[in-house]
Amino acid sequence: MDGVAARESARPVRGDAGFDVVADVVVVGGGGAGLPVALFNRWRGNEVIVLEKAPELGGTAKKAAFWYWVPNNRPMRAAGLTDEKDDFLRYVARLSRPTRYDPDGPTLGLTEWEYAMAGAIHDSASEAAELLAERGALPYRHCPAVPDYWSELDEDNAPYGRVLVPADASESMADGGENAIRTLTAAARRDGVELRTGHRVQRVILNATRVAGVEATTADGHTHRIGARKAVVFATGGFTHDDDLRANFLGVPAYRGCAVATNEGDFVRIAGPLGAQLRNMNYAWMCPVPLERSGRADLVGMFSVSGDSMLFVDKTGRRVVNEKLPYNELAQAFFRWDPAAAEYPHLVLVQIWDQRAAEHSASDEYGRLIVPPGTDDSHVIRGETLDDLSSAIADRLAKVAATTGGLRLSPGFAETLKATVTRYNDLAAAGRDTDFHRGETPVQQLFNGPVKEEPGRENPTLWPLAPHGPYYAALVTGGTLDTKGGPRTDPDGRVLDDTGAPIPGLYGVGNCVASASAQAYWAGGATLGPIIAFAHRTALAITP
Ligand SMILES: Cc1cc2nc3c(=O)[nH]c(=O)nc-3n(C[C@H](O)[C@H](O)[C@H](O)COP(=O)(O)OP(=O)(O)OC[C@H]3O[C@@H](n4cnc5c(N)ncnc54)[C@H](O)[C@@H]3O)c2cc1C
Repeated sequence: MDGVAARESARPVRGDAGFDVVADVVVVGGGGAGLPVALFNRWRGNEVIVLEKAPELGGTAKKAAFWYWVPNNRPMRAAGLTDEKDDFLRYVARLSRPTRYDPDGPTLGLTEWEYAMAGAIHDSASEAAELLAERGALPYRHCPAVPDYWSELDEDNAPYGRVLVPADASESMADGGENAIRTLTAAARRDGVELRTGHRVQRVILNATRVAGVEATTADGHTHRIGARKAVVFATGGFTHDDDLRANFLGVPAYRGCAVATNEGDFVRIAGPLGAQLRNMNYAWMCPVPLERSGRADLVGMFSVSGDSMLFVDKTGRRVVNEKLPYNELAQAFFRWDPAAAEYPHLVLVQIWDQRAAEHSASDEYGRLIVPPGTDDSHVIRGETLDDLSSAIADRLAKVAATTGGLRLSPGFAETLKATVTRYNDLAAAGRDTDFHRGETPVQQLFNGPVKEEPGRENPTLWPLAPHGPYYAALVTGGTLDTKGGPRTDPDGRVLDDTGAPIPGLYGVGNCVASASAQAYWAGGATLGPIIAFAHRTALAITP
């Protein structure tokens, strides 16, 4: 990577002298977690240095829409909406650990740790969001109409209103991350946080009692020793871009997703020799990704699959999934293992649409694949008829065979596809998808994307494909937005060792540490809302 130092050994070094510079708090990573951590610590009177590996600040958060999920937020309270902690925890527990969920249990089936971590989000997210807003670091606007991803569940007693977005985000809210990073960075500069980019932290420095600093390298080959009087806080994101960690920890063969390219699991390696306990390494925030863009720095996961005259089929030509499921759930569909055939039959699904969708559902926001004229459409496959399209899909799959284990279309794909389109068209004409229930929950309609207005239609996610071409297709698979496993912390960001005791001086916030959400993606903003809560709590723990 240009401007980024290569990885070196993560083995800690010893000594408490010879620092090039010393601050009270050293924050490693300048993205969605690092910048709030830096600000909250600065506002408690500390000297703070941020060390960012990439040539620019922002991390994955700069690419994000930056919705942030804040239970019991101030606008909800002002509007008289109730969001009690017990109810919030019930929703969280039901989704995070569905097989252990116990509505009558003292921790609802969660472990004590998970219960405490989830409770901390309810306790602190709103306070943290208000502080960031009051100080001009992250002014927000409330989104009263945005539902949780499982708003229809009985356990969700506050199904709407938990999402905030940066105040200056556009109406579609897709560009919130750029806005948030701009205002957070400006506040950090204004308030005297030292921001160093191009500094890759390689390892920690230990003194006799605690983590006392870090060594960072720059692309010019220099090693810098940065001391921390009070704490080192890691906020280095997940391990999306480390193929080895992904292959060895995730339970599924997920492709590289849309985290910033510098998120390579550095904290997993750095914290290992310190005795940190890893948790939830098998989970990620997931999203479908266009297969041919996996690994590209500009990749944006498919947060919204647009188009009504549009469907997904597998390699046999059959429809196998509700295309409008929320992204984390849709991404799971690619990884069904067929034990009889010893393969992942749905590893690649083919999105298919017609000219009507091309004209009315084109958008380059939220990772949509039906893109407007003039934008990169190298992923789009074309055919005048469904037969032509089938041959073109077969050719494209052959070209990318090295990335899929040689996945090919089954014999008879074109004929099966025609039968599938006929069936889909009958369902769409009736406005009810009795096969996969597309469009039947609020979140599926929220992420439907632009469609042609049709007076009186019941289900805006469905429309028959045209009887004539041209038709279009794209190859889709499942990827990580970023991972959510790593060293376990307590609810105040202290990294815990194998006995459950804090490792003195070492803290972590964000996707570099274990998220208690486990398999769940509770709502839009479910990464950044909790991150802001934990950033605030960590600062309070460092400087009570
Ligand atoms: C397109 C897109 C849309 C999204 N939309 C939303 C949304 O609306 N709401 C939401 O909640 N989440 C969203 N997310 C997810 C969200 O962006 C991440 O969960 C969030 O940014 C995580 O924050 P983080 O600080 O843990 O990681 P990041 O924001 O990725 O920051 C980590 C930083 O650490 C740096 N780093 C890594 N290793 C080192 C090292 N060794 N030394 C120094 N620095 C290092 C990286 O370069 C990076 O800048 C979205 C993600 C994407 C890609």
